[in-house]
Amino acid sequence: MANYKTGASPFQDYLTEIHAELRGMTGGAVADYIPELAKAAPESFAISFSTIDGQVYSVGDSGSAFSIQSVSKPFAYGGALMRLGEAALLRAVGVEPTGEAFNSIVLDERNNRPFNPMVNAGAIAVAALQDGATPAARIAAMQALFSDFAGRALGIDEAVYRSEAETGHRNRAIAYLMLNSGMIARDPEEVLDLYFRQCALLVTTEDLAVMGATLANNGVNPRTGKRVLGSAEVRDVLTLMMSCGMYDYAGEWSYDVGLPAKSGVSGAVLAVLPGQLSIAIWSPPLDPIGNSVRGVAACSRISRDFGLHLFMNAATVEDVIRRETRASRQPSLRIRNPRERDLLAQEGEKIALVELQGALYFASAERMIRRLGRLIAEVRYLVLDFRRLNSIDGAALRFFDDFLTRSRAAGVEIAFAEIGGGTADTAGLISGLARDRGVRVFGAVDTALETYEDMVLDLAREPYDHTNFALDTIRLFQGLEPAQLRRIEQLIQPMQFEAGAHILRTGEDGRMFFVLARGSVSVMVETGQDERLRVGCIGPGQFFGEMAVLEGGPRSADVIADERVVCYGLTVAHLDDLAAEDPHILSTIFANMAREFASRIRAGNRVISQLQ
Ligand code: GLU
Repeated sequence: MANYKTGASPFQDYLTEIHAELRGMTGGAVADYIPELAKAAPESFAISFSTIDGQVYSVGDSGSAFSIQSVSKPFAYGGALMRLGEAALLRAVGVEPTGEAFNSIVLDERNNRPFNPMVNAGAIAVAALQDGATPAARIAAMQALFSDFAGRALGIDEAVYRSEAETGHRNRAIAYLMLNSGMIARDPEEVLDLYFRQCALLVTTEDLAVMGATLANNGVNPRTGKRVLGSAEVRDVLTLMMSCGMYDYAGEWSYDVGLPAKSGVSGAVLAVLPGQLSIAIWSPPLDPIGNSVRGVAACSRISRDFGLHLFMNAATVEDVIRRETRASRQPSLRIRNPRERDLLAQEGEKIALVELQGALYFASAERMIRRLGRLIAEVRYLVLDFRRLNSIDGAALRFFDDFLTRSRAAGVEIAFAEIGGGTADTAGLISGLARDRGVRVFGAVDTALETYEDMVLDLAREPYDHTNFALDTIRLFQGLEPAQLRRIEQLIQPMQFEAGAHILRTGEDGRMFFVLARGSVSVMVETGQDERLRVGCIGPGQFFGEMAVLEGGPRSADVIADERVVCYGLTVAHLDDLAAEDPHILSTIFANMAREFASRIRAGNRVISQLQ
């Protein structure tokens, strides 16, 4: 590979280098069968390169416009496929390489159609299918299609168009022959007029690169975001470019460069690497087959330097399972009482959490489904975290669908969480699947875990009487004598909050801590302006707001009622009173608190160690 010079982008430097190197190449001749084309300057040379997100790198005469010529053929074919569908188009034009010159007058007599749309006969047959009420409307529709591919309005080189219209007798012969055998139904002169204008569309290599990137990007123009072709049409177009795009050099081209491509007699070559990039080159001198001499050399170089050949696939299958754990090891953030914690340490084994990442396609999905299949033999609930999943294709969706059916039959409940990770398309496909299969969808993984923990706990929970809340069942007050408990009962203040109410606010002075009697509350911390993260959830029997009381500072979090809650408040003044009256009460409460903190820290450490 060429050595990079330092610069804004190593790839830009690379292009500059090969441009300088290949500029020195001689050989080839500018096409002269269309008189106007013969005027092209042989030294003109431009390379543009576009990524599928529309980043274009250019070098040389990339601002100069030239007529698109045969590079227009795959795009016109794609447009016709969109309008008429594959079946109708296959009746009009075949998909077989000819091995003959692009302008040969051979037709597939057996099927009564031209061999393929990349040779003139096929392209003329495609032009005969252009829709529109009048010739002018058909020209406008053709021009609009190409402008959609380029992402800007493309004009026609009138001189080139006229020159070819006056001298294109060979194409005229092809069109009349096709009329004679019923391969086209329209007036050949009008069809040829449209075809010559299509060939005379003015483009730069930057335009061609964007057009190619639209194909690489599965039919969506990366500059405008407009969908010009569907993925099935892109597949058909690229297939024909691969087998027939480089005149009768297609075989050697596939062997050497290995990219679907199309060239034209103006000296343009456009190559596409699906899903990644496009390369557009313009250099008018042609080899005897009709391909740009520098165009072929540059594509060959770039393909080899960067290993772009389509069959250069190193055998890699992504592991899309980033992490697999259980609620016993990584419980939800909800703060549980000790009995619940003990239960979950065991029962949490029945709740699996699997984080997905990357791209799901045939091979990665097949591998994932095999692993998940083993997992559902062991668990009751499976939460799939989609946050890091970037894409999913049709094959993967089929595997997934089948997996959901099988897990349902096995009695395992599946939940999808954080679906919006990848593109909007991916999110749409996954929510569609969830909808079709009745899969439960959660915004956050934590809520999913909490829900299934509650289910697991519910199976084991004894009925709990909220109305008769006894202080002696609260861990915080354990070890106190009945008389001491009665003393506390006198001091505490029962309070009720409605769902959504702020019980504590960050920054406020904390003079009271709370014991939750009924309902649940969420602990929220600010992570940015107007952004809050739910860091914990507290249920009955638990306490909160103790930090500010112990430290004597402002509140460090918001606490919000998840539902209607009842809690008991104890103020600093109450604690002081208690300390004065009976130091044993306070030391018992503090010892219980310390025990609770220790187990919260242990739980936190477990979570942190899971995150490594
Ligand atoms: N307009 C040219 C023709 O029909 C296009 C040929 C080409 O670029 O291959 O002869």
